[in-house]
Amino acid sequence: MIEFDKVGKTYPNGFNALKDVNLKIEQGEFVAIIGLSGAGKSTLLRTINRMHDITEGKLTVDGTDVMQLKGKELRRFRRKIGMIFQSFNLVTRTKVINNVLMAKVPDLSFIRALFGIYPKEDRLAALEALDKVGILDKAFVRADQLSGGQQQRVALARTLAQNPQIILADEPVASLDPVTAKQVMEDFQRINKEMNITILLNIHHVELALTYASRVVGIRAGQIVYDGPVSDVNEEI
Ligand code: ADP
Ligand code: ADP
Repeated sequence: MIEFDKVGKTYPNGFNALKDVNLKIEQGEFVAIIGLSGAGKSTLLRTINRMHDITEGKLTVDGTDVMQLKGKELRRFRRKIGMIFQSFNLVTRTKVINNVLMAKVPDLSFIRALFGIYPKEDRLAALEALDKVGILDKAFVRADQLSGGQQQRVALARTLAQNPQIILADEPVASLDPVTAKQVMEDFQRINKEMNITILLNIHHVELALTYASRVVGIRAGQIVYDGPVSDVNEEI
C-alpha cells in the first residue's frame, strides 16, 4: 500500500507544488491522476520513488517510510517501482531486446546492452515481457525503427522485466495518436489485472482515464480535489 499522510512538497526555489496530500492506494489498484498542466501530477508521482523528496508529512510504501531510505535500501526499493515516461527513454540505437535486458540485468547494463551479452534465462524473460505487450515480433529490431506506440510498449516491457510491484507512468500516452494511445492504455489495464501490479498514471485526457482506470484522483494547484471510483465521476470533473 502507498500512503500519503499530509504530504507537502516545496521545491528549492520556494514553489509549493503539493499541499496537504492525503491518499491511500492499495496493492493492485489502477489509479489515473488527472489535472491541468502544472497541477502537480508529475511531482506527486515522482515523490513515490524518491525522484523528488517530500518536504512535509509522511509517505510510506508497505509501511516503509520512504524518506528514511538511503544507499542500498533505496536502490532495492526503487527496483520494485517501474517508471514510464512520456518520451519512452529507450536506447534507440540498439535492439529492442537489449533495451528490455537493461532493466532485467542492471549491472554494466549499458555496455552489455550495446553488445547484447546476457545469460539465456534473462533473454527468455525479456522475450516473455515483450510477448506480454504484444511486440515479441519486434525483439530483434533496432528501437529507432519502431513507431511511438511500439516504443512505449518496449518501455513497458522493460519495466515488466524488472518485476515491479508498482508502475508509475508519467503522461505515457501524451505523445501518441488517439488509436495508439488506447492500445497502450489497454496494455496498462491488462498488466494491472493479470499481474496485480499497482499502476499510477498521470494523464490529461480525462476520457481515457475514465475508460481504463478504476479510480480517479483529481489534482489542482497541488491539492487533491477529487478522489473516487470511475463509476462515481460526474460532469463536474
Ligand atoms: P504536472 O505534472 O501536473 O504538469 P508538475 O508536477 O510537473 O505538474 O509541476 C507542478 C508545479 O511545480 C508547476 O508549477 C511546475 O512549474 C513546478 N515545478 C516542477 N518542477 C519544479 C522544480 N524542479 N522547481 C520548481 N518548480 C517546479
Ligand atoms: P517531464 O516532461 O520529464 O515531466 P518537465 O519538462 O515537466 O519534465 O520538467 C523537466 C525538469 O524541469 C524536471 O526536472 C522538473 O522538475 C523541472 N521543472 C519543471 N518546472 C520547473 C520550474 N518551474 N522551475 C524549475 N524547474 C522546473
